[in-house]
Amino acid sequence: MRQSKFFMPTLKEAPADAVAESHKLMIRGGYIRQVTAGVYAYLPLGYRVLRKAEGIIEQEMDRINVPEMIMPHLLPATLWQESGRYKKYGAEMFKLNDRHGRESLLGPTHEETFTEIVAKNLKSYKQMPLALYQIQTKFRDENRPRFGLLRGREFVMLDGYSFAANREQLDEQFDDQKSAYFKIFKRAGVTVHPVIADSGTMGGKNSTEFQAPAAIGEDTIATNEKGTYAANLEMAKSIDNFKQEPEEPKELNKVATPDCDTIEKLAKFLDVPATRIVKSILYIADDQKVLVLIRGDKQINEVKLGHILDADEVREADAEDLEAITGSAKGGVGPINANWADKIIADETVKNLYNVVVGANKTDYQYKNANLDRDFKVDEFADIRVANEGEPDPVDHLPLKFTTSIEVGHIFKLGTYYTKTMGADFLDQNGKAQPVIMGSYGIGVTRMLSAAVEQHLTERGVAWPKEIAPFTIHLIQMKMKDDVQTELAEKLEKELSAKYDVLYDDRNERPGVKFNDADLVGAPIRITIGRDAKDNIVEVKQPTDEKAAKLSVDELEAYIS
Ligand code: ATP
Ligand code: MG
Ligand code: MG
Ligand code: MG
Repeated sequence: MRQSKFFMPTLKEAPADAVAESHKLMIRGGYIRQVTAGVYAYLPLGYRVLRKAEGIIEQEMDRINVPEMIMPHLLPATLWQESGRYKKYGAEMFKLNDRHGRESLLGPTHEETFTEIVAKNLKSYKQMPLALYQIQTKFRDENRPRFGLLRGREFVMLDGYSFAANREQLDEQFDDQKSAYFKIFKRAGVTVHPVIADSGTMGGKNSTEFQAPAAIGEDTIATNEKGTYAANLEMAKSIDNFKQEPEEPKELNKVATPDCDTIEKLAKFLDVPATRIVKSILYIADDQKVLVLIRGDKQINEVKLGHILDADEVREADAEDLEAITGSAKGGVGPINANWADKIIADETVKNLYNVVVGANKTDYQYKNANLDRDFKVDEFADIRVANEGEPDPVDHLPLKFTTSIEVGHIFKLGTYYTKTMGADFLDQNGKAQPVIMGSYGIGVTRMLSAAVEQHLTERGVAWPKEIAPFTIHLIQMKMKDDVQTELAEKLEKELSAKYDVLYDDRNERPGVKFNDADLVGAPIRITIGRDAKDNIVEVKQPTDEKAAKLSVDELEAYIS
């Protein structure tokens, strides 16, 4: 592909409203453009990445013998009335009326449609196990569409549905999907943790989320160092052992430390500006010298646990986080951190702060067992959640770390909720009518691309994972008027294009412009054809390399593969 013919409108600056780095990168690099809130056009560069991700999904679904199909986007309300979700789904549903006044909707997910079109057609146990999937645009009228492709109102989802005649079949299908999902994320270069998750309006009980740790994530997960344990903090809200949090407290709950019952006093106590407090609070969880960095929205009850760091780790903490806590990152991370750790650990009253945050001192709204030190330590948060999911003994998970992360996928054992309510029976081996047992499986494909960028940012752009990179090789010719360079560039373009996706920068632009754009394209291999072309020498560079290296053209093939 010649770059002179490629539509890739790059920008020097990201728009002011772009917060997430992945959003900025995709806008600056000309991958996407917003058409209206949460709705994007995929320009050629973005569309190439999307198609590659879809290609990986297609291959991995083929491998587990799950065929692809496509359902309509436009659905009748009657279908959702049948399942009882027309009302229950809430304001996120895009509803519309046709010319005859019939209520319709744009599909936010497709359990009902698959129950209607597939499950209702399965008459015998012999037709199962069966699973199908689609890669399709979904519509959700999100309250706060934001962060580019991370939370759109129109986005691409892989959604799959399984149909089983018994529980064992469902378990097997679930495991197949789970391992296929791991392969998909791995090939897409996205690091994920499987976590126990809330089932939301989907119905099913057993559900696992795939969480991609990232700086911008809207979720918070707890993981252990060994990587053998992960859970979503969202779960704390949905588990019976935890009572409700207050709806909208205007003040902090009363605590033993009278000095800290308002945000202002808390700010004073922590010696930080009150404006920072709404963003972050520092807290020592127990005598083990654990620091919990708590981030929150405007209200203290919305506080989320951010990170747990032990005292040594604090020295390596992120400067931005520290700035949020201390109001100053001056003087570097080291000394400030150490001082802060010592100061807080020495102060007994800090323990009460934790109670403030979880609302433990107000009995009506207390998380059961939340009285720190008396009933449990902060680490045991995780045990409580695991135990409630009926899992075996809590795994060895200490020390625990909290990380913001992105929900890139979600799989559910739905059971018979939809088939019972919508009437999809089959005849079992004994000729008895039974409801089909379903599972549903989803990956936010476009969201996954943002997650990939978040996890692979470079100083000036992105280093795309090989399998989803828009181009594998970026050929850059320094001087278009130099015939020797042109000859070599065209020769390489021809040879390499036979095997790889090649973008050839044949534009009459200054090298600076070309290199800036190349950082945004983020191809795994950049080949620059410059002055040394006459000696058959080029320069090669990978996005994470600091400097380019000279290489003779004969060595190129070996370098690339
Ligand atoms: P979230 O908690 O982020 O709102 P969800 O739990 O509502 O997501 P699911 O119903 O589980 O989403 O849908 C399956 C997948 O679709 C999610 O795991 C996510 O990757 C993706 N997804 C959901 N909502 C959006 C959105 N608004 N924009 C982009 N991707 C989305
Ligand atoms: Mg949602
Ligand atoms: Mg969710
Ligand atoms: Mg989900």
